[in-house]
Amino acid sequence: MLEDSFHGIAHLLFPHCCVGCNTVLEERKEILCYACSSLLPRTYFETKDGNPIEKSFYGRIPIASASAAFYFSRDSVLHQLLVSLKYKQHKEVGLYLGRLLGYQLAIASRFQDIDVLIPLPLHPEKLQIRGYNQAAIIAEGIQSVWPKKIALDAVMRTGFSASQTNSNRIDRWQKMQGVFQLSNQQAIHGKKLLLIDDVATTGATLEACGTALLQGKPASLSLATVAYTL
Ligand SMILES: [Zn+2]
Repeated sequence: MLEDSFHGIAHLLFPHCCVGCNTVLEERKEILCYACSSLLPRTYFETKDGNPIEKSFYGRIPIASASAAFYFSRDSVLHQLLVSLKYKQHKEVGLYLGRLLGYQLAIASRFQDIDVLIPLPLHPEKLQIRGYNQAAIIAEGIQSVWPKKIALDAVMRTGFSASQTNSNRIDRWQKMQGVFQLSNQQAIHGKKLLLIDDVATTGATLEACGTALLQGKPASLSLATVAYTL
């Protein structure tokens, strides 16, 4: 009761507004109003067999299904949200984006048999600086609307990846080798895994982490990210 009235007063003093258009939001956990969230550019990849992410993994590692909720573009509302999740300590944004991704996966027939969510790990030093792994927060958001187990210890990140801006695909692939290590085979053996990250770009990081996971002999490996960019 006391808490309710406190939130009520706080809300009057500091109204909680949509990041996209500044409309006052009723619900504290929401980040965008309904109008702005429906303007996020959906990919519908969750329903498309052979979508661009899946195609980008052909000949690299075996991926059962892959999806990304939205197309990424620079200076968009989505870009703003991902920056505030990664660099401004706004964990609630990750929970929100995770829920949006989770709603899509929960009704997509191609993802129904997933057993375990695996957030792409951060290097332990980076984790200590940031205080959280944004992929793990997204996985929590997914789990809140699509109850699946989350395995945080299945794979470890042991190295840093160098800046990837000026390298081609082969260079990036080489730089990523050995960055991830399988650390709990029991958590994944015989399971259908869904590897989670914020953005899928070249897929070099997802490929390296996926390679480490496949050593644990899961039944299958799928991928899901919030955003997709070429
Ligand atoms: Zn809005």
